Amino acid sequence: MEFNIALLKGDGIGPEIVDSAVAVLEKAAEKFGHKFNFTSYLIGGCAIDATGKPLPQETVDGCLASDSVLLGAVGGPKWDDQPGENRPEKALLGIREALGLYTNLRPAKLYPALRNASPLKDGIVGDGFDLMIVRELTGGIYFGDRGYRQGKYGEEAFDTEAYSVTEIERIGRVAFDSAMKRSKKLCSIDKANVLESSRLWRKTMHRLAEEYPQVEYSDMFVDNAAMQLVRNPRQFDVIVTSNMFGDILSDEASQITGSIGMLASASMGETTRGMYEPIHGSAPDIAGQNKANPIATILSGAMMLRYSFGLSDEADAIEKAVDNVLNAGYRTADLMGSSEGSPLTCTEMTQKISEAL
Ligand code: NAD
Repeated sequence: MEFNIALLKGDGIGPEIVDSAVAVLEKAAEKFGHKFNFTSYLIGGCAIDATGKPLPQETVDGCLASDSVLLGAVGGPKWDDQPGENRPEKALLGIREALGLYTNLRPAKLYPALRNASPLKDGIVGDGFDLMIVRELTGGIYFGDRGYRQGKYGEEAFDTEAYSVTEIERIGRVAFDSAMKRSKKLCSIDKANVLESSRLWRKTMHRLAEEYPQVEYSDMFVDNAAMQLVRNPRQFDVIVTSNMFGDILSDEASQITGSIGMLASASMGETTRGMYEPIHGSAPDIAGQNKANPIATILSGAMMLRYSFGLSDEADAIEKAVDNVLNAGYRTADLMGSSEGSPLTCTEMTQKISEAL
């Protein structure tokens, strides 16, 4: 089969890790007899430098014309002084909105081979955990009304959390459907003891739960969830939550798996075109040094094959290659303890995974 893939390499380590994922996707195409056509577009800081805007129209058009999108990461200190509307991170919100991507799937799995990299004690992680965070991506406070006004103490800034029943229902259905395909357990996380928008969220989720009687459904307040993730992550399977809570909790979930460099994500909407990206940022501290862990981006490529192209065997093969390389003891620097020998570079890790494939 033939597919057109838009590449948004972005800034910092973005180009290194996207090149790694492309190398592994090329290998998968060769092995399984497919053809992937890659076209690169600018996004983030590099787009500001070249065009003055973090998300040029050409990038949006290129992504809309492709079968799927693979993103590295955007941002860095060079662009930190840009005004709010022109910040590199604004491009992420813009491209998600332009592609209608309202669902973010973030698997967080502790690989048995990486147990030592998790900061949690053995007694807590047991023989590992495997959870899926379903985060709403185009609503809530990141998209609500914002601005400055005169308040009780003088000038103040405000942002608004707003959710409609429609938005809650559509992300809720994705989460219940994901739970049905996994262990039929779903926890919805909100702050319904304080926020009106959370009370509507909870009421809507409860109504949906009646349609999915096979799913063991529960609610949890976000502050408790932050605590429970480090106290007993194995109690969770699928988690559904709002844009901002999902942003924060998924980073927490990533860290307890050992390294943020391991975790992939998929952003989906109504069509099969998705956007796939590692959950980490552009890591300016290690950019250009060939030190980045490419696995999150390689696994994002595998998610693209599974969710957008329906190529499950190919996705399984990439995931198995990553497993085999980790089981053989190969590590990038972020996955190593101080006494474990010398780490692989980004390109060496990519090479090992391609060979394993
Ligand atoms: P970050 O995820 O870039 O880095 C946090 C830490 O994790 C750093 O020490 C970094 O070296 C390390 N790290 C991240 N990915 C790694 C990898 N693949 N291999 C090895 N180590 C890795 O987060 P940050 O430092 O808070 O943000 C840096 C920049 O990235 C900021 O401009 C931020 O706005 C941006 N950002 C972008 C995205 C995105 O593009 N989706 C997401 C988060 C942050």
